[in-house]
Amino acid sequence: MTQKQIREISVTNSMSGRKERLETRSPGKLTMYSCGPTVYNLIHIGNLRAGLTSDLFFRVFMRAGYDVTYVRNYTDVDDKIIKRAKEEGISSEELARKYTVEVEKDYHTAGLLEPTHKTTVTTHIAEIITLVERILAAGKAYVVDGEVLFSISDFPGYGKLSGKNIDDLVAGARVEVREMKRNPLDFSLWKPAKPGEPSWDSPWGKGRPGWHIECSAMSSKWLGEQIDVHHGGEDLIFPHHENEIAQSEAASGKAPFVKYWLHHVFVNMAKEKMSKSLGNVLTAQDFLKTYSGEFARYLLLSVHYRSIIEFGEEAVDQTLNSLQRIYEAKQKACEILARPLLLEAPEWAAFRTTCEKTRKDIDDAFANDFNTPGALASVFILIREFNRIAGSGAQGGNEAARFFIEIIEKDLGDILGVGQRPPGEALKDLQRIRGARQAAASGTAAVSKEEIEALIVERLESRKSKNFARSDEIRKDLLARGVILKDGPGGTTWEYGNIH
Ligand SMILES: [Zn+2]
Repeated sequence: MTQKQIREISVTNSMSGRKERLETRSPGKLTMYSCGPTVYNLIHIGNLRAGLTSDLFFRVFMRAGYDVTYVRNYTDVDDKIIKRAKEEGISSEELARKYTVEVEKDYHTAGLLEPTHKTTVTTHIAEIITLVERILAAGKAYVVDGEVLFSISDFPGYGKLSGKNIDDLVAGARVEVREMKRNPLDFSLWKPAKPGEPSWDSPWGKGRPGWHIECSAMSSKWLGEQIDVHHGGEDLIFPHHENEIAQSEAASGKAPFVKYWLHHVFVNMAKEKMSKSLGNVLTAQDFLKTYSGEFARYLLLSVHYRSIIEFGEEAVDQTLNSLQRIYEAKQKACEILARPLLLEAPEWAAFRTTCEKTRKDIDDAFANDFNTPGALASVFILIREFNRIAGSGAQGGNEAARFFIEIIEKDLGDILGVGQRPPGEALKDLQRIRGARQAAASGTAAVSKEEIEALIVERLESRKSKNFARSDEIRKDLLARGVILKDGPGGTTWEYGNIH
């Protein structure tokens, strides 16, 4: 049997700080682990970027021909979860379950593909305990009063990912550090139980896992002791990923634990680094409801994963205009495709050649460290050329239009998850978003598609029950917010209009 052709990919490896050619441990196969969210709250736009980035990697690796095994976890036991559960008056288990459902909803709306395995800490306690035992057996950890601590002085490679100097870190470590630690940087693998907290039986007494051990345990269970790609936000490099390396390599005695470390950078919102601890940040759910999954994908993926996203009005407007250009061209292409077949003008034949070249450019861009802005730039050049020829009235073009649509939907769309909707529907949605933004700018409240549709149903029911005052009020209220209702034989439709 001949070896399956794999496209060459280069990635920026945080371990070397350089762009490297991807060579997986086993040809044609790729193992990837991505650190997922801690489920103690609704996720924000920054967390959505994390999910979308690993989804992008997953899609590009699959497109390149790899047989990918991709694991993404949910951290479902941790201090923040315990604290929040107390605030909400429910168990931490219930709280974690509740927010896992919410995150799953957001990921679904944002069109994330399902990973091969989605894992949680609480379903891997046995594996975690076994791993801690192995680290102890290797002489790289010690037990004090029911707590198991990793001994970084016994792991010479500590600091190799973050490039941090251990002596500097020790000097800078807080003095209030408990004396039980041999080194102030030693970290918990297993913590003793506090009253009222979730806990499990272990050889060291009742307790729960430290934060870092879960990822080492889950990646080795599902992907093996050494993996190809590990992804996370750059804020996880130290200490989380540094500690994962120490744990995994100490337990297995094999290095490297991870061949390629990929880190995305954060989303800057109003010049403040977005993080859930700041409170009051826009949740992914708010954003997805006001805009759409596709809109979020475009906004968060059109910027290279190693560049900061400046989240704000400008980014939203750019996304709006870019999606509009894509869908207007796609709509035109659908019209050309539906035309009767005529002799093809030579411009269209040349355009098909341009399509071939664009297809290669898109693939090359994605294979070059996931260069999404590069892929989009090629597509916009193609759109300009398509619009020029279509606008010139060149005859024929059905085949060229089909090719063009395929590039939007497959070559670009299968990776970025944009441009795949019917153009009429997508353009209407963009018009709604534009209207909502205008309404918001003019001081009237924005209104979501769901709200409009719910009000249309309510209005219909009001009319059935002859409550015309209410049905009239709904119409006027929506009109004041820029939504025009139109009653027709097929029911009520709506659109955004200018308010005068
Ligand atoms: Zn992790």
